[in-house]
Amino acid sequence: MATKKKYAVTVLKDRCKECGICIEFCPRKVFERGPDEKSEVVRVEDCIGCKLCQYRCPDFAIWVEEEGEKHGES
Ligand code: SF4
Ligand code: SF4
Repeated sequence: MATKKKYAVTVLKDRCKECGICIEFCPRKVFERGPDEKSEVVRVEDCIGCKLCQYRCPDFAIWVEEEGEKHGES
């Protein structure tokens, strides 16, 4: 059975400007607005590591890291 890659997604709330871009663009709905309107990671287990959120966030508030493997580009 192929092992599913796991990712760690971090939102720096201090930088988040509540624009909602990451929530709109994430194909796996990993983010939701929290009570403070900022983005929160709620379904990290669904992340496919596309990094759209990291590239689209205008405030550099997000980064995505692959867990387990060090260099898993395929
Ligand atoms: S794209 Fe960046 S600034 Fe916008 S809601 Fe997401 S984390 Fe916050
Ligand atoms: S890397 Fe892709 S799937 Fe993962 S949280 Fe960001 S936009 Fe969503």
